[in-house]
Amino acid sequence: MTNTQVHPLLPLLPRPSHYLGTEVNAETKEPDDGFLRWGLAFPDLYEVGMSHLGLKILYHILNRNSGIWAERVFAPPPEAAEIMRAHQTPLSTLESRTPLADLDILGFSLTHELCYTTVLYMLDLAKIPFRSTQRDSTWPLIIAGGGACVNPEPMAPFFDLFVIGDGEEVILELSHEIIRGKQNQASREDILDKLGYIPGIYIPEHFHRSGSGHIARSPTSETRQVEKRVVADLNQTPFPSRQIVPFGQAVHDRFTLEIARGCTRGCRFCQAGMTMRPVRERSLARLDELLQSGLDSTGFEELSFLSLSTGDFSQLEALFSQSLARCQEEQVAISLPSLRVGSLNPHLMHCMATLRRTGATLAPEAGSQRLRNVINKGISQQALLEHTRDLFANGWKRLKLYFMIGLPTETYDDLHAIYDLCLQVLDTAGADKKKIQLTASIALFVPKPHTPFQWEPQDDVQTAGQKISFLQGLFRKPKNLTLRWHDPSMSSIEGVFSRGDSSLARAVEEAYAQGDILTSWHEHFDFSVWEEVLTPQDIQAWLKAREPDADLPWAHINCGVRPSFLLQEREKARQEAMTPDCRYQGCSRCGVCTLPREGSELARQEQTRAIRPVVNQYQRDQEGEHRPLPPDRSKETWEQKTNSLVLEYEKKGPAAFLSQLELQTVFERLFRRAALPLSFSRGFHPMPRLSFGRALPVGVSSEEETCLVGLRRPCPFPDVCAHLNQFSVPGLIFTRAHEVQSGYKLNQPRYEHYALCFQLSPRQGEHELERWMEIAQAEKWTVVRQTKKGARQVDLRSRLYAVEVQPPDGVIITFDWDPGYLNPLFFVHSLHPDLDPRAFSLTKIIRLSVSACRPPTPE
Ligand code: SF4
Repeated sequence: MTNTQVHPLLPLLPRPSHYLGTEVNAETKEPDDGFLRWGLAFPDLYEVGMSHLGLKILYHILNRNSGIWAERVFAPPPEAAEIMRAHQTPLSTLESRTPLADLDILGFSLTHELCYTTVLYMLDLAKIPFRSTQRDSTWPLIIAGGGACVNPEPMAPFFDLFVIGDGEEVILELSHEIIRGKQNQASREDILDKLGYIPGIYIPEHFHRSGSGHIARSPTSETRQVEKRVVADLNQTPFPSRQIVPFGQAVHDRFTLEIARGCTRGCRFCQAGMTMRPVRERSLARLDELLQSGLDSTGFEELSFLSLSTGDFSQLEALFSQSLARCQEEQVAISLPSLRVGSLNPHLMHCMATLRRTGATLAPEAGSQRLRNVINKGISQQALLEHTRDLFANGWKRLKLYFMIGLPTETYDDLHAIYDLCLQVLDTAGADKKKIQLTASIALFVPKPHTPFQWEPQDDVQTAGQKISFLQGLFRKPKNLTLRWHDPSMSSIEGVFSRGDSSLARAVEEAYAQGDILTSWHEHFDFSVWEEVLTPQDIQAWLKAREPDADLPWAHINCGVRPSFLLQEREKARQEAMTPDCRYQGCSRCGVCTLPREGSELARQEQTRAIRPVVNQYQRDQEGEHRPLPPDRSKETWEQKTNSLVLEYEKKGPAAFLSQLELQTVFERLFRRAALPLSFSRGFHPMPRLSFGRALPVGVSSEEETCLVGLRRPCPFPDVCAHLNQFSVPGLIFTRAHEVQSGYKLNQPRYEHYALCFQLSPRQGEHELERWMEIAQAEKWTVVRQTKKGARQVDLRSRLYAVEVQPPDGVIITFDWDPGYLNPLFFVHSLHPDLDPRAFSLTKIIRLSVSACRPPTPE
């Protein structure tokens, strides 16, 4: 396989590693084996999509099924899309490069409202018609799931069906129904009819809409409420430990362990808190099993205990206790991404401080206690200040606080309270106050469906802008206090679609036609496009309050929480009254669970299962007596360096497209998977001691690269290359290894040999070789090179020690870097400025033979 066969456009694409599909734990099957072919599409860039837990879970569940193959596809950045369009290459899956139109099912994750035009962008790149009415049985079923589907209406005309709620069980039931339908050669309509009976599946074409786009209230034989799907017990549900290890940095680049699902704290603005009820925790035994196998099979240096409210996990201290020894030993950071104030006691903070540290964030949401009561946040000023005091005392120097503006009943006094609270938080650092970096991050409140605030108005862009200006005036000092805010115009578009109906599908199409994609990225967001397709008056209208008896576009979606409960909570908000967490203080009868004297709102599922909270214990262990934690492995253990390992390796095929930065992470994780006893640097953020030879340009292969690894004890593996190769990625092959004394340094060689091979017609190849023959005989080869300091003349000939032309298609170049190193590709581009990057390969070699002058062959 040549480089260009890895992906036809790989040498042309920016960040080519994002199109390889050869990451550790990616699933490859035989395309012709009759699988039901799924594409799991994420309407955002690779680095965002690779961070999404839902995609990891579905990928794992589908692929462990022998009759199904699920692959990934992400939205390419606009520069890459332009290249694909120019070369008429449709968007395809990562693992097998199957065009999306050839799949059976294409499932999009709709995590938020600002990804809607990106869905159309991906369909367009795949040459799939947008509207479900334009697609017949020859097209894949286009489906969606994810948090934004609790109001699917703005996207309803584009999708054949939506999965509402937990997807683990539904996707298999759906897959098997489609397999059966295909075997029986059933029509698309017949298959959809059958799928409509699966709880959790919403098929838009089975529902009637009024002219305005609202779902008709009068039920027909086909119209009924769609229940969200609930997985009753997470311990019985598959969870991926072999998560794909991304190339390059994903936004959340770590092993994600979902410790619990659902939250019953009852924050009145929080959609996930209302729609993902009830709370279900995984058991400690299951979590330990997943953690151990997850770190073994991924090599991640960071681990995240994920849930909507991690600090509320009833056995967080016990979970830490069982996880700490391994994390200390291997310097794996533990991140707790959604911590509530007061949910991490000083004892646990101290434990976290013994690991690689991650940033600290807290979400008071409102500055004043009054407003925190309105939103049912349930945290006191005193608890917040105690929490930050403990954080600073345990060495944290950076803290981010999240707030919302525009909340119901908010006044300017509440806004001022945000600033006052930040000053008080800084004071909790005592004498270190000036060393702390505190950031207040402000977002505009967006009323969300299925919450007590679903009827409330949203601030328009102008009002939100005035509030931000007011805060900017306050936050001028002190210097170590920073104000950041989310663009209110972006939030207004989110607000429109969050409570919108199917009439908005037209606006999604028009905005896409005007170039809107990747709407949540500041560099791509253009508010004027939306003002044009929606008009400013329309935007204002969608942001207005709704009457409690209004016909809401999402009324046919049943998330289990009764509308009467939401209204009751709205009333309590106005009275600044709190509703306690039902986990610890009794059920508030929201309607989700099957209770002894009252049925669940999810009546169809209630017939077959108990829907109820599943907690490990009904009191949080972090509030009581602290259990003894394992002894802190002293720093000397992992900072120790007894010797080093010099590793020689080949970097070929797909691995040639990894950048040096990506390669460092690939190596660190590979060594962790292989259980090499790595030695770590000292400091706040210990790093393994790795050093490399000269960086190889992206797209250039090598037969001999070198890396030096610091070890804290002698290497325990007799044949270390064979051992490492078991854990490596395709194209990265270890060839030689030897141990050296601590203190050994890698030398940069003065001479390096490269093979340049043209993949052109014989006549064209001959023509390109003639240029090298001329260069070989010339005394000087002066070109202009752009540097940071401007254009510079440089003599490339002085760096050519030898040039050996090897007809019909190759040349061996020996570089002499004594006058200074330059990127070897610069020589090729200087001599062949118009040459397509796919028409040659460049390989660093050690043998000066013709056989070396061949395109690289990936494993
Ligand atoms: S029904 Fe009761 S126990 Fe269940 S989530 Fe709602 S309030 Fe909590």
